[in-house]
Amino acid sequence: MVDLRSDTVTKPSPAMRQAMAEAEVGDDVFGEDPTVHRLQARVAEVLGKEAALFVPSGVMGNQIALKLHTQPGDEVVVAERSHIYHYESGAPGLISGVQLRPVGDATGILTPEEVTTVVRGAPDWEPRTRLLCLEDTINKAGGRIYPLDTLQAATKAARTHGLALHLDGARLWNAAIATDTPEAEIAAPFDTVNVCLSKGLGAPVGSVLAGSGALMRAARRIRKALGGGMRQVGLLAAAGLYALDHHRAGLADDHTWAHRFADALEATGAFRVVPPETNIVLFDTLREEAETALHRLAAAGIRVVPFGPATLRATFHRDVTESDLTHALDMLPRLYA
Ligand SMILES: *Cc1c(COP(=O)(O)O)cnc(C)c1O
Repeated sequence: MVDLRSDTVTKPSPAMRQAMAEAEVGDDVFGEDPTVHRLQARVAEVLGKEAALFVPSGVMGNQIALKLHTQPGDEVVVAERSHIYHYESGAPGLISGVQLRPVGDATGILTPEEVTTVVRGAPDWEPRTRLLCLEDTINKAGGRIYPLDTLQAATKAARTHGLALHLDGARLWNAAIATDTPEAEIAAPFDTVNVCLSKGLGAPVGSVLAGSGALMRAARRIRKALGGGMRQVGLLAAAGLYALDHHRAGLADDHTWAHRFADALEATGAFRVVPPETNIVLFDTLREEAETALHRLAAAGIRVVPFGPATLRATFHRDVTESDLTHALDMLPRLYA
């Protein structure tokens, strides 16, 4: 079975498990876990921020950021294609009492004009726009990279209107590798940035939220309130550190393989493929329902996920082997001959 459902299906390698087993630990609610401190310092440094906070999941990192930057009743601008809008269980309303303002098209990229147009809050009957959240890479747009000049212009426009800025950088690592841009440069305009260790980097658990020291102290309190204070969690932080040291460069291979898979899909004539920019391939079925294609591919040992009535998603990751790729490339022309 070639599992292309998500880059979260990876399992810790023996070397990663060894790093976890040997981790020095302490009670992190008391601030006494040295491995967590090392991970937080390391991620803060890579992202060019003052401080960072280890959190159990990307959703928690994003939602802590929303809570940090808003008051109940505020409005948060997001791309219509964003993870925060589609896949976080309504948490912005549940936890922060804010409303989301989804903007933009299928690219998930907001321009400075789009940002400027939606900012409101002068009259007392309008919600106050407080925060802009961008995502890079954009999952629901097929792992698309936010063009750096557009990202800088959009965040600048938001700043002009006094908005706070958060980056959902679950796959920021992929954007950085693909464009040969330091993560810190992409993260620079933002007050807070969340990155996932459990996607392409291959750690079993965890995300890291980064920002100023003051924001991270406030974030720690919110994390605790959400039930995210963990004890000897250096075991998991060690996996994150191992992933940062050993798995970042390998993301480039995921991108190459995604391109090869996309070419093979395109060659069948049965799909319209969004040209991949990183490790995700979004493709529309032209001759059948997504569900039918999903089962056809699964029967041939290729697992993908549905992403709409006629859309599927395949995601490459470090547990896809060379023979998995060869199998997929061999099967596609046979399935759609
Ligand atoms: C996966 C993901 C998250 C967070 O997901 P968790 O499963 O909570 O770690 C956030 N944003 C994007 C874009 C993601 O792909």
